[in-house]
Amino acid sequence: MQRFQFYLPTKVYFGQKVLENVGKETKILGKKALIVTGKSSARKTGLLQRVEKSLQRAEVETFLFEGVEANPSVETINKGTKLAKEKKCEVIVGLGGGSPLDTAKGIAILSANPGSLVDYFGRNRIKETPLPVVAIPTTAGTGSEVTPYAVFAYAENRSIRKKIIADSSLFPQIALVDPELTLSLPASITADTGIDAFSHALESYLSNRSYPFNDILALEAMKLLFNYLAKAMENPEEINIRSHILYASLLAGMAIAQTGTILVHAMSYRLTTDLGLSHGKACALLLPSVCEFNLKQGHPKLTLLGECLGENMENLTTKKAAEKVVTTIKDFIYQLAPLQDLKIKEVKEQLIEDFAQEIMQDKRKLASNPRQATLEDIIGMYKKALW
Ligand code: NAP
Ligand code: FE
Repeated sequence: MQRFQFYLPTKVYFGQKVLENVGKETKILGKKALIVTGKSSARKTGLLQRVEKSLQRAEVETFLFEGVEANPSVETINKGTKLAKEKKCEVIVGLGGGSPLDTAKGIAILSANPGSLVDYFGRNRIKETPLPVVAIPTTAGTGSEVTPYAVFAYAENRSIRKKIIADSSLFPQIALVDPELTLSLPASITADTGIDAFSHALESYLSNRSYPFNDILALEAMKLLFNYLAKAMENPEEINIRSHILYASLLAGMAIAQTGTILVHAMSYRLTTDLGLSHGKACALLLPSVCEFNLKQGHPKLTLLGECLGENMENLTTKKAAEKVVTTIKDFIYQLAPLQDLKIKEVKEQLIEDFAQEIMQDKRKLASNPRQATLEDIIGMYKKALW
């Protein structure tokens, strides 16, 4: 059997009401906590107040850093770090979607390490252990509660880029994964974030870095999302359906924590920074064309993938099998995020070439991708997705 390494040091609580553990678990990590959250959803639903109360009951002093934007900027992390340092916080509680969770990780890094966040962009560059993070996701998408990654928007030469920090010290200490917190998600964010989770699972599964144990996580996540995501949009208040989706995004997060993602994610970032698409929509747009590229010449796990998506894969040529799986994925995506909702500005050829040139620098993502891609291939995939 293939050799593998599996590392996931996060203590995960999953299920309804696990949020109630926040006071008890945070107290073990520190007496002063900075709560990091988004613009308004946590306050409006009363969740923020519940977290504050639970922490205060456990005699943890709380400070609040509110208003984190989608795709958090380096400036936002700097502001949060200033507050964490002033108040001498010992633990960071991230409450919200991937943006507040990643912000919590960024603040945790800079509270314990010198310099600027830019110094830590890339892989394994963190020297001192960041402050401990308690992660409480309120979207079912990024899986950031169980990944060693954080993604930030950085202004470089007057343009914005998304930059990743990957470091095993970035796994949160505690993840409180409570499906009740996702009941308030509107349909569009349910779809967007659910597609992000699906993309994580699919990319992890197809990655050259995948291995049999990791595949179990990815396949189960895909199956659940495929079967329940549309239902979650139709029945937003059905807790059982929400539980399946949040569980799937957790599994998908565990999967990418081991393998990373492939070209869908790599190619998605410029669609967010340059075209203004949300992270999930950017993945939605690229998934069909990148899957087609990766599968059309066959993939050793193609049959199992088709079966996981409910297809009969018996007696098919490689070509037909790939077509079937790509069509199934396309139909799934378009049912959730109709193309007309993906509001894309007209994209010039020059810009696409610029996007593609940048991907060619990302040797790690290119090496993880199951089919070797040239500059022309990447341009082709962008055009197919955008034009
Ligand atoms: P997000 O940017 O955190 O949030 C998107 C929107 O959802 C915000 O308007 C937010 O409102 C709202 N929202 C969140 N929870 C809600 C709830 N329960 N009810 C109603 N509205 C709610 O979205 P995300 O897709 O979860 O995170 C995206 C970010 O994560 C991107 O920067 C992406 O690159 C990153 N990411 C990270 C990883 C990782 O491993 N670290 C993996 C994939 C993606 P409020 O602001 O008012 O809360
Ligand atoms: Fe993602």
